[in-house]
Amino acid sequence: MSKYVKGVAVAISCAAMPVLAAVNIVPLPNKIIEGEGALPAETAHNVKKVYDATVPGEGYRLKVDANGLEIAYSDAAGVFYAEQTLMQLVAPDGSVPYVEIEDAPQFKWRGVHWDDCRHFIGKEALMKCLDAMALNKLNILHWHLTEDQGWRIEIKKYPELTKKGSVRPASPKPVVLKTPGCKDYWESNNTPYGPYFYTQEEIKEIVAYAAARHITIVPEIELPGHALAAIAAYPELGCTGEQFEPWWRWGVSEHIFCGGNDAAIKFLEDVLDEVCELFPGPVVHIGGDEAPKAMWKKCPKCQKRIADLGLAGEEGLQGWMTRHFTQYLAAKGKRAIGWDEVLDGDPGKDTIIMSWRGPGGGIKAAARGNDVVMTPVNPCYLDNPQGLEDDPYEYINYGFIDTLELCYGFNPVAGIPEEQHSHILGGQGNNWTEYTWNASEYEWKIWPRMSAIAECLWTKPERKDWQDFKRRVATMRKRLIHLYHINAAPVE
Ligand SMILES: [Zn+2]
Repeated sequence: MSKYVKGVAVAISCAAMPVLAAVNIVPLPNKIIEGEGALPAETAHNVKKVYDATVPGEGYRLKVDANGLEIAYSDAAGVFYAEQTLMQLVAPDGSVPYVEIEDAPQFKWRGVHWDDCRHFIGKEALMKCLDAMALNKLNILHWHLTEDQGWRIEIKKYPELTKKGSVRPASPKPVVLKTPGCKDYWESNNTPYGPYFYTQEEIKEIVAYAAARHITIVPEIELPGHALAAIAAYPELGCTGEQFEPWWRWGVSEHIFCGGNDAAIKFLEDVLDEVCELFPGPVVHIGGDEAPKAMWKKCPKCQKRIADLGLAGEEGLQGWMTRHFTQYLAAKGKRAIGWDEVLDGDPGKDTIIMSWRGPGGGIKAAARGNDVVMTPVNPCYLDNPQGLEDDPYEYINYGFIDTLELCYGFNPVAGIPEEQHSHILGGQGNNWTEYTWNASEYEWKIWPRMSAIAECLWTKPERKDWQDFKRRVATMRKRLIHLYHINAAPVE
């Protein structure tokens, strides 16, 4: 009986409030106590901020009661995240419901991956994405800037990179991929694509925009593979010296940076010098995935390096490059991160491993003492279909469907022994743009699935509830549409 009476009381107090605001927050705060009543709009703008060293980094306490509105914090990010929560608490009439929230993230790497190489999505959409990320308390943008199909970052010392490397002669024709693994997309549209790239001035503007939202950008310069656009600009960087054009097909070129050529190593050091100047964040991604070794097997320079240094074949040569550039970046105060293939070449313990071919690479890396970012292809590759009926967009079809609910099941520490959890920095959602032609498609594919991943990275697993999330994320979707004009997909 008392339960029933309480239920009625809650219903009445909810009716008095315009919305059940506190429980509509994404990602769900780690502790919420809802009060009864609300601070009227006239007084809700008056926020008191109190420094408190006991509040965890990026965390905050938010208290709204008859006395007003108070934020306790220990760093600037904490204040910012309290404000993001507050934005989601304010009722349409401007009042703020009484509430006490204590909140801090589970993981410090809460990432979104952005591929401007296969298709150039561009600055305007990227900045909208940064706004949407901030609202979802995501704090890392992993920016994929170099590829076989295009080089997208201005490097002052090597102007041909953007002059030649940012234009490809054609792209594959769009096709609906009905068959998993279908390769029918290798038909040219005979239309040049580019020049598309970011100038250093634009990059500085984007980095500053991100920093104002407590988002760190991790730039990615792919090595030794996914390098054909650079080799097209400077043929001497490859093993054969042949002149190429940036690749118009999707897939992976076997022409990679020559691991035996000191000039190619120096080139990459020079590029990283400029990259480190442009991006103040502590981490630089050096790729390392999908590097076919066919050219290295035939290349006298590569074979000489392997013999001179006593390396374990071609994988050993890639391992030498990973260690070399990890150390090169360390000397500049930066940490290197690479895709999980770099484990095949025995990287040092200081290289962060990004686990993409499932969680296995991350599990192995944590066991050997490397830090890890988890982004397993299922459910974190948002270029996989999301399972909506009548979805108008095309996806890479490897036979996977990663629904919103599957994304919500992501757990970066699954399969990791507890004593190694400290090595798991967090996770991220990725979208590769072979089948994403423009910004509105990009947005459709990553939102709201990225909100699901955001909650997996911020909120304690025991607080997660799919049905409750489904209801809250519907509101988040509306916020993304109305606040930032994001083309977010429906929840179901
Ligand atoms: Zn070579």
